[in-house]
Amino acid sequence: MTRYIFITGGVVSSLGKGLASAALGALLQARGYSVRLRKLDPYLNVDPGTMSPTQHGEVYVTDDGAETDLDLGHYERFTGVSSRQSDNITTGRIYQQIILKERRGDYLGRTVQVIPHVTNAIKEFVLNETEDTDFILCEIGGTVGDIESLPFLEAIRQLGNDLPRGQTAYIHATLVPFIKAAGELKTKPTQHSVKELRSIGIQPDILLCRSDREIPQHERRKIALFCNVRESAVIQGLDCRSIYEVPLAYHVEGLDAEVLKVFGIEDPPAPDLSRWRRIHDRIESPEGTVKIAVVGKYTGLQDAYKSLSEALVHGGMANHVNVELQWIESETFEHPDAVQRLEGVDGILVPGGFGERGTKGKIAAATFARDKGVPYFGICFGMQMAVIDAARNLAGLPDASSTEFGDCADPVVGLMTEWTHGNTLQTRGIDDDKGGTMRLGRYECRLQDGSKVDAIYGNAAGDNMDREAGQGAVIFERHRHRYEVNINYRERLEAVGLRFSGLSPDGELPEIVELDGHPWFIGVQFHPELKSKPFEPHPLFASFIAAAVHQMRLV
Ligand code: GLN
Repeated sequence: MTRYIFITGGVVSSLGKGLASAALGALLQARGYSVRLRKLDPYLNVDPGTMSPTQHGEVYVTDDGAETDLDLGHYERFTGVSSRQSDNITTGRIYQQIILKERRGDYLGRTVQVIPHVTNAIKEFVLNETEDTDFILCEIGGTVGDIESLPFLEAIRQLGNDLPRGQTAYIHATLVPFIKAAGELKTKPTQHSVKELRSIGIQPDILLCRSDREIPQHERRKIALFCNVRESAVIQGLDCRSIYEVPLAYHVEGLDAEVLKVFGIEDPPAPDLSRWRRIHDRIESPEGTVKIAVVGKYTGLQDAYKSLSEALVHGGMANHVNVELQWIESETFEHPDAVQRLEGVDGILVPGGFGERGTKGKIAAATFARDKGVPYFGICFGMQMAVIDAARNLAGLPDASSTEFGDCADPVVGLMTEWTHGNTLQTRGIDDDKGGTMRLGRYECRLQDGSKVDAIYGNAAGDNMDREAGQGAVIFERHRHRYEVNINYRERLEAVGLRFSGLSPDGELPEIVELDGHPWFIGVQFHPELKSKPFEPHPLFASFIAAAVHQMRLV
């Protein structure tokens, strides 16, 4: 039997609803239940793929090639369950499907309406592809009271009646602010938010009250009384030092036990929280701090690089160190003297990005790292920048560039118009739609025997990698890009030490480059940060931070 937990938010946004959902998923898993997490986003974009990362934060890519909300990244990092296309829906996608059906005449002359057509489509999404999962956790984006979220709230309300009794639970996350002038915590915003929710027909079972300080028992009693929930169902959610402490903290507050009670599970299996305790210990007792400079274009909003900064933290955990990030806006970094800002950092990372603006600074960062022997990690765009640097400054191709910035004499990075995905040929034209047309999702890559990346992945897998004689070890990583390093420049670049150490199975698409003779200089066309987890740091991030620790000890 699959049970459904709906998580809504009230009072303000940014309450950490996504993290709370992820943490609850992890806690249920720790008790031996299987979980799947889903996000229902009320905006009109079909997916976040076309939204600016500075507005909406990072676009999280799933194995099956969906461009999704960054909360799905939290879900995966906390539960290890790979998200899928079917785990994120937006109002835009729902309307797109409905309008297509309407045009086909599928509604047989009926008037198409929000209730029941839009709400039915939302319910179908929630109930779809649940397999035998014990708990489906559905987070509703936005805040109760927003016009956009109404159809979603109506759909989850209906599900409470559609499904058998005892198969749904509603959690409402709210804020209990401290008002300095009064010297008191205030419960009124929570009361109002629950009132709003109840006016739509949803009575929450549990309130997760976010607060920056302890909520006294009498205040919890008051919240319970005014919001019509049990006292034990008023769970306080205090700020934690690290997001990875949230599962333990919420467990101590009784969140998972209370959720199970809602479902009538009074005597659940005891949780095995050893994984989270180990993570807690690592966070509590670092043996040093490494400084990593991230040179990117969207540094104004750190959510734009969410998975990346988390993967760096995981790399730190693997090496028992704290990772201090220095965000450097690549455009402000174009002045020749600006590279001095990189003196003293232990590692440089150039992340994914789009468009020409800011690229001079990124290329300068790659040049600096290469010259000075500072560990360099180029991810997607960061790999392309490293290749441009090597082509211009090592291979004697001053006009080398990417066709993303216009025509050039030496297109060392060029637009991909054809590639294979499994057994199918994918083709794209220059004027295709922008949404959902990149090379997206999980692709195979072959590592060159004897290369650094082969050793890094091999070590992490305990030398137990899938290998085919003469073809190198096989890895799978997630992609999101339109341009690719041009294989025709392989010989010229390898002659100056930039080795193409990872290729697509057909040998046509360079997936990894590494600089021979440099302590750690690796560029990857994929996004390894998307697969890193606190309990399973990605091998490349663990190795990059290990190199940064080494660098720190040198200087
Ligand atoms: N703009 C580059 C491309 O489309 C890199 C994309 C990225 O970094 N994700 O290939």
